[in-house]
Amino acid sequence: MYLIFRCDCGRALYAKEGVATRKCVCGKTLKVKSRRIFQKVETREDASLAVQEMQDKIYKNTGFMKASDL
Ligand SMILES: [Zn+2]
Repeated sequence: MYLIFRCDCGRALYAKEGVATRKCVCGKTLKVKSRRIFQKVETREDASLAVQEMQDKIYKNTGFMKASDL
């Protein structure tokens, strides 16, 4: 199981269930348990896809950041 959540910087991230912390590309280390979980998915592929979709939704209209910046 993988958990999908967001960093304070707005990026979507995923972490394998049971992992305590996840470091965002912005440099912030997040405690997974303290984050609001948006989705739970079974596989790493699904997690990667879910993050991609969230990034698309977040940045689609602003052009602020491309998904390739993940
Ligand atoms: Zn971040």
